[in-house]
Amino acid sequence: MSIHTDVFKTISQELNEKNVTLVAVSKTKPIEDIEALYQLGQRDFGENYVQELVDKQANLPSDIRWHFIGHLQSNKVKYIAPFVHLIHGVDSLKLLKEIDKQAAKNHRIIDCLLQIHIATEETKFGMNEQELKEALDQLSNFPNVRVCGLMGMASFSDDQQKVRAEFKMLRDLYDQSSISHEPLAILSMGMSGDYKIAIEEGSTMVRIGSLLFGARVYS
Ligand SMILES: *Cc1c(COP(=O)(O)O)cnc(C)c1O
Repeated sequence: MSIHTDVFKTISQELNEKNVTLVAVSKTKPIEDIEALYQLGQRDFGENYVQELVDKQANLPSDIRWHFIGHLQSNKVKYIAPFVHLIHGVDSLKLLKEIDKQAAKNHRIIDCLLQIHIATEETKFGMNEQELKEALDQLSNFPNVRVCGLMGMASFSDDQQKVRAEFKMLRDLYDQSSISHEPLAILSMGMSGDYKIAIEEGSTMVRIGSLLFGARVYS
């Protein structure tokens, strides 16, 4: 077992006091590590890859709330639609449409977050302000999707001021959207390296992997 039990206990207590939800990001990590955190009471887990998520879901307790936090391709929505708890990375109307379709097929409403592009890096996915407005305006076309909030990833940078400014920007968009539309309840921002700043800037949900499970090794 390679999970960082003490770190988990400290972080989950800290987040609990602040009413921030901890999503334990278990991508690339074995079933045993997830079971170990589950034994300590953790129920929200995040995965990035559809096939890996489907395999893990089939082999782990059914009361785990599975978050899909990666970039989701429309043709793969059907595999996770029966059970996914929250899809964080929705960044196009095309994807919203497909989630709505698959949710209807499964007789459920799927909760989603719209991903906003806040980093300066070109490689991070997400909508800009205009695309967010358009998506929010069209939600009534997707009755089986419930947009509960926004998600974003800050630049991977040591410059804390820059990271903070990006989170601030997302928080402002979140506040504005909550006023003009049904109240949004979830602001998913913050990872192992920047979750403290994210919480200071108003995050309600953090996605933490390496601090809990150790560094990931990609082969
Ligand atoms: C991998 C990943 C995380 C967790 O990253 P850590 O730095 O290991 O905490 C959070 N969010 C997303 C979208 C990820 O892909």
